[in-house]
Amino acid sequence: MQVPDKYLFSHPSEIDALREALAGRWLSGTAQAVDRYELALRTLFGSRHAIAMSSGSGALHCALHALGATTKKVLVSAVAPIPTLLPIITAGATPLFVDCEKDNFNFDLEDLSRCINDDVVACLSVQLWGYPCLSNGILELLQEQSIPLIEDAAHAHLTREATGLAGTLGRIGCFSTHDRKLLATGEGGFCITNDDCLTEQIRRLVALGLMDGVHHGFNYKLSALQASLGTFRLQWLDWQVKKRTATAQKLMSAIDAPNFMELSIPANAQPNYYNLVVRLAGTSSRQARAFIEALELEGVSSNILRYNVRPAYEYPLFAKWQRRCPNAEALMSTITTFPVHPEITDDHIAYIEQQVSAHRHLLVD
Ligand SMILES: *Cc1c(COP(=O)(O)O)cnc(C)c1O
Repeated sequence: MQVPDKYLFSHPSEIDALREALAGRWLSGTAQAVDRYELALRTLFGSRHAIAMSSGSGALHCALHALGATTKKVLVSAVAPIPTLLPIITAGATPLFVDCEKDNFNFDLEDLSRCINDDVVACLSVQLWGYPCLSNGILELLQEQSIPLIEDAAHAHLTREATGLAGTLGRIGCFSTHDRKLLATGEGGFCITNDDCLTEQIRRLVALGLMDGVHHGFNYKLSALQASLGTFRLQWLDWQVKKRTATAQKLMSAIDAPNFMELSIPANAQPNYYNLVVRLAGTSSRQARAFIEALELEGVSSNILRYNVRPAYEYPLFAKWQRRCPNAEALMSTITTFPVHPEITDDHIAYIEQQVSAHRHLLVD
């Protein structure tokens, strides 16, 4: 059996939303369909502003640029994936890697505090695979030190941090709506913020400096067709998270292996289950790798192999900013992911359980 690892949302009625957008004829980023989408996003997140964009990468680039991260350093987790990291260098800043906690993606508070200096212009967090990462005094420390937080919530639509929805806790929340994300418009993204001044700057950056010839800008506007699709699909986000959560719970209770535990979730926080992340506790990276590869051969694939996951500074592009982060190194080499999207059935769960049981001996000496 091949367990499907990619999920593509589709609904028979969404064609009506697209037809309506086409009937309006105006398909560029200044169409009314985009205003309606932004209104729906503001309502969902309870934010003062939402700015639709053509990609999550564009959203991150604009957020960093608007906060002045065009030089100097941006604090970012050593577990951050490539799409979180690239916009930092696009904007002109450099990454300063911060370690995570031993058993989750939270910034390690002590290490974060050690990294803060006058060269730091912003902090960029990422709820990797939809898992919370901002508990345990991180928000308070950043606030105390006046370091603006940008959340890369591209994986994290409706993920709950202990104090609110992912994307609403810093100065700017950035989301992607690429096909693989929980809200999908093919390509796309958006920023949310409560800050009027930043919104004005980001709106200029997204739309060629509003063509005033005074302000610099890019072109990251979202088209009306994608915005219409986004407005329609937003209604299904909550359904998706509930279904994914139920599947993750079923899978975890089906599997009975002592060193097989879900990544720890801080109190009052809740992942959206973009993926289920499992920690292969007490294993060596060699054992974990053998286990992940054996499951892959049986059709149970892991994002660890698909995306060549490793601490950020082990990618050649980021090696020159290496700063050894022991927790991130240990954690990234002993976790794996499982798909729990809406098309994962009870049969898939039973099959995964069977494959884990058949290969769990690889995790012990
Ligand atoms: C997908 C993704 C992005 C980039 O979004 P695009 O819309 O593909 O540009 C950024 N950060 C993370 C964590 C992502 O998963």
